[in-house]
Amino acid sequence: MDKTFSVTEIRKDFPILNTKRHGYPLVYLDNAATLQMPVPVQERIRSHYDRDNANVHRGVHALSQASTNAMETARETVARFIGADTDEIIFTAGTTDSINMLARMLEDRIRPGQQILVSAMEHHSNLIPWQEMSRRTGADLEIIPLDSQGDLNLEALEQLLQRDTFLVAAAWVSNVTGAVNPVDKITALAHAAGALTVIDGAQGMKLGVTDVTALDCDFLAFSGHKLGALTGIGVLYGKRSLLKALAPVRFGGGMVGHTDYRSSTWGMPPQCFEAGTPHYVGAISLGAALEYLTALGPESIARWEEQLTTALVQSLSLIPGITVLGTPRRRTGAVSFYAESIHPFDLGVMLDTLGIAVRTGHMCAQPLVESFGVHHVLRASPAFYNTMEEINRLEDALKRINPVLRGAAEMMTLAEKQELMIQNINALGDCFDQYSYLIVKAQQLTPLPEEMKTPAALVPGCQSQVWLYTRTENGRLFILADSDTLILRGVLQILRELFDGENVTEISALPVRLFQETELAATFTSDRNTGVQTILRKIRNAPE
Ligand code: PLP
Repeated sequence: MDKTFSVTEIRKDFPILNTKRHGYPLVYLDNAATLQMPVPVQERIRSHYDRDNANVHRGVHALSQASTNAMETARETVARFIGADTDEIIFTAGTTDSINMLARMLEDRIRPGQQILVSAMEHHSNLIPWQEMSRRTGADLEIIPLDSQGDLNLEALEQLLQRDTFLVAAAWVSNVTGAVNPVDKITALAHAAGALTVIDGAQGMKLGVTDVTALDCDFLAFSGHKLGALTGIGVLYGKRSLLKALAPVRFGGGMVGHTDYRSSTWGMPPQCFEAGTPHYVGAISLGAALEYLTALGPESIARWEEQLTTALVQSLSLIPGITVLGTPRRRTGAVSFYAESIHPFDLGVMLDTLGIAVRTGHMCAQPLVESFGVHHVLRASPAFYNTMEEINRLEDALKRINPVLRGAAEMMTLAEKQELMIQNINALGDCFDQYSYLIVKAQQLTPLPEEMKTPAALVPGCQSQVWLYTRTENGRLFILADSDTLILRGVLQILRELFDGENVTEISALPVRLFQETELAATFTSDRNTGVQTILRKIRNAPE
């Protein structure tokens, strides 16, 4: 690792990482969705507005020149970052926009009967535009399958390429499994068959040094916001020879050679593909973000992100009930998983209450997620500013939630339920907070009708009045109870939450630790303690 690559130092550039959520230090593991923006990029945007802001390519005045220079310098930075030339860099609104635009640009090139090959691990952004192209042109859309580990099946690709193929579209890195595709091999196979290649680089741009010449892809799409720049800016790289041969599909200001009332000629690439006022501040932010990543060292970033990803897979694999999607040979930046017993959205919310931000849903890669037999998953996606401690925080959180995770596959035992309640009550804070919780619980207890508050139902020895009924049905216990004090109503409600509907044999065997191991009983008088013990005895001795 570079001597200069210090996660502690890097984190100082991301103040948001130092904030809290729900009282816990934020653990941001949703970087595949968007990367946080470092302060130097924020400052670059601010200084552009403070000093140089004007529309670009449209004025002779100094401010317009300064703004144009800033945007074109950013284009140079992007070109340098990926080993391309500036006229091969088209600024777009993002990966989705790049691929949609490209699909339209290529539409009049494809011949009927040719096929479009799309990998089975694509984000909808690199699938639906090709579905649409196929629908409009009558070309065949075929899917390149994955092997049993979740890697792209290159043999199947070779087979598919035996038919007349116009284009192969594949992600560099899967946003679901983090599988890294061998882009150079894919492009070599495609080119040998005379097909074009489109690489979705949305998740791949932090894989060390990017060199489009070595990858030899014909087109590469990526988004600025996944690299620390603003949203709404992205890039479509295309080989110069190809871009020169393609016609624009968006029309308006800034892209023409000459226009009369009837017709127009186009300017040169890339301007002819950037109709309208470009998102020049976005482009400038992207230039600044790439400079920032370059200064940190792309190789160091890539190495650390892979190490974090490996650690993530290892810790998730240790947690019973969790299934990780795929076992690709090389993966980075994203790990998706699910728990049999709890909906990913519920688990995502539970993690959030512990300060941990992960993505939930189908990850906009529905066919891939569904091929694993599930509709929704969770995804943890680390970035270079994450720490191993944060990966441990996720593991600890999942272990803490684990009794709930096991709920459906293997019903939570009564002891686990008690354990979870103890953890939750202790997480509330000090004695005052726990007492306040008791009062809230008191209000949740359904009052007994007056006619049931009989002397026979009174629990003897309590400091205040407690009426308790137990009923057993099919070996399961049900409790009805009330008290004239809020504290005891709270105690009764908590006991109902623990015991109601549980097996009577399990109840009588359970050592009740709920009061010893929380602050709930801290201020109980000895009379009240005796009373609570009597309540417990009555519950545990309920007839089977
Ligand atoms: N492709 C992949 C692999 C992605 O992960 C994403 C976003 O998550 C996209 C495409 C779409 O990117 P954007 O929404 O920035 O256009």
